[in-house]
Amino acid sequence: MQVRCLNCNRPTNHAVMACYTEKGAEDFQWRSDYEILRCQGCGKVSFGIRSSDEDSRASHEPESLIYYPSREVGRQPIFGRLFRSHVPTNVLRIYHEVITAINNNQPLLTAVGLRLLIEAICKEEKCKGNLEKEIDGLVAKGIIAAKQAKLLHKHRFLGNNAAHEISAPPQEELIAALDMAEIILRAIYSLEPLGSRITSTNKSARRAAREKKKQFAAKAARILKASMPKAQKPTTGTPYFLR
Ligand SMILES: [Zn+2]
Repeated sequence: MQVRCLNCNRPTNHAVMACYTEKGAEDFQWRSDYEILRCQGCGKVSFGIRSSDEDSRASHEPESLIYYPSREVGRQPIFGRLFRSHVPTNVLRIYHEVITAINNNQPLLTAVGLRLLIEAICKEEKCKGNLEKEIDGLVAKGIIAAKQAKLLHKHRFLGNNAAHEISAPPQEELIAALDMAEIILRAIYSLEPLGSRITSTNKSARRAAREKKKQFAAKAARILKASMPKAQKPTTGTPYFLR
């Protein structure tokens, strides 16, 4: 059976290692198969539920398939071992919870989690006020650009609607919001450690440094010359002992 594998990041053959079946009563026939699946490429084990009933079969609808973790999203955290240490603990914990929520088809928790993630970033950067002011505070501190702040305000609305109106946003919106949050996370926590790995400068920077050094040496020579006593002008005419 072909199922998308989150490890191999493509559809691969999966074997059903074990299956438990439940069937409905005689007056309405339905069937659910609970399957333990194993990827035949990498060996990753996951879980699937395959369901159908007499109505869906009569109308030739495909079986309902639900996988855990969800194959539709299947997000992996962006921070590897090297960068994890640069991300504050609270921010990292919330980010991982958001990834778990979106992978397990929990849209309300994902939306609220994304809002909480932005709030945690603002708190770490010591921005004050409500979330709206905190996001603007990130711009004032030069941590993000004004354009990026506009996008973060959308996370605020997404989280507010989920929390106050119990309204779950569509999955595409949540994926877009998570993509944006990850861009901001990378900009804040990964750029600096990446930049510190690059020690060489470009040619024009080296040339400019040489030129500056030359100008400095010339200026120092001028100052030194100006501070030295002036040489006495040689007297003209016949020396006194020859007059
Ligand atoms: Zn695999």
